[in-house]
This record gives sequence, C-alpha cells and structure tokens, in this order.
Amino acid sequence: MSSTNGFSGSLFVVAAPSGAGKSTLVNALLAKEPTIKLSISTTTRAPRPGETHGKEYYFTTADDFVARAQNGEFLEWAEVHGNYYGTSRLMVEQQMKTGTDVLLEIDWQGARQVKKLFPQAAGIFILPPSIAALEERLKKRATDEPHVITKRLLAAGGEIAHAPEFEYAIINEEFDVALSELTAIIRAARCRFAQQAARNASLFAQLGIHAE
Ligand code: 5GP
Repeated sequence: MSSTNGFSGSLFVVAAPSGAGKSTLVNALLAKEPTIKLSISTTTRAPRPGETHGKEYYFTTADDFVARAQNGEFLEWAEVHGNYYGTSRLMVEQQMKTGTDVLLEIDWQGARQVKKLFPQAAGIFILPPSIAALEERLKKRATDEPHVITKRLLAAGGEIAHAPEFEYAIINEEFDVALSELTAIIRAARCRFAQQAARNASLFAQLGIHAE
C-alpha cells in the first residue's frame, strides 16, 4: 500500500495537448464534484481576451516568476510554448493537508515533477479521438493563423508523446462518456486504501486497522 505522507486530500493531475477539450471537461467535472479545488497557476504569458487575474491564472512578469521559483514557492514549474507556468506549493499543500482534493491542469513536465513529490497523485491524460479531430478543434479557435495552427499541432504531438507516463487515458470523443470516465477515475482514486486510511484515521483506528 502506498503512503499519502499525511496528506488526506487526493491529488489529480490532468494533462492534454491543446485542442483535446481538457478545460471543458475539467470545468464540467468541477461542477459535478464541487469539493475538488482547481489549482490556479501563475504564468508569464499575457492574458487572453476574457481572462481575469486570479481566475484562469495569476499573471506576472518573468522577473517576478524567476524570483519566486528561486524562493521555492512553486511545487513545480516549467517553460511551455515560451512562457513560464508554475503551481503554488502553499495552496496545494494546505488544501491536501486539510483533506481537500486538488486538481492540477498542467503539462507533462510539471506532471513529472509532481509525481516525484506525490507518487500517490493520479495522472490522467486526455486524448483527442483522432489527429483530424484535433486539427479541426484547433482551427475552430478562430483568430489563429495557419502557421500558428501548425505550431500547435506539432506541440500537441510533443505532449502526446508523454501520455504513457500517466496512469489513466481518456479519449474525448463523446463528451458525456469522457466526463463519466473522468468522474469514475476521481471516485476510484478517492477509495484507494491509503487515501481512505488518511481521511478516516479514527475509524480505521477503531477498527484496529493500522494502515500506515
Ligand atoms: P495555456 O497558455 O494554453 O493556458 O496553457 C499552455 C499549457 O501550459 C497547457 O498545457 C497547460 O496545461 C500548461 N500549464 C498551465 N499551468 C501550468 C502549471 O502551473 N505548470 C505547468 N507545468 N504547466 C502548466
């Protein structure tokens, strides 16, 4: 049985190539499972129209990001498409200590770092049903020029190459099916023995189960 190192909340890491429908799926999951906290990352990329500081991301400068990374404020951080992205160590650890489940929407580089720190984290990779579907979804993102789409498709291939590092794979063909699969994974991960033992310590003690 793997240990949770005293963290009674579960940790979920969701990755996908851009265009696989990750954010839509995650948002629908959070609406169904409102006790899960989505970690809001810090990034040096510029806000897109409609994005708000503190909602999608905390937007900052490269200098500030680097200083905070050196200060150990990020649980993980990585450079993705020329910008820095990082996960707040404090937020994740505080939530997990108090039994709250946390979900990270990060890239494979970050997922790898998180897995080293929290081997019990459940890694979930969202796949498109085909390359054609991925291309189609990227094209629908209106304003992008053809060379931007090509760049994103190449980047998608790079991200997909790391899918085998994750425990779970969801093929996002039918949205409802993908959502129910994602929900099933979350619920099963919560029932892992070590997770239940950490969450229900007094019950386990009463029952004479000495799990950790
Ligand atoms: P976007 O700029 O399109 O919102 O995100 C670009 C990529 O950065 C996505 O693959 C997204 O999952 C990833 N990303 C977002 N936040 C983080 C983070 O905190 N850490 C890492 N490693 N990747 C992140």
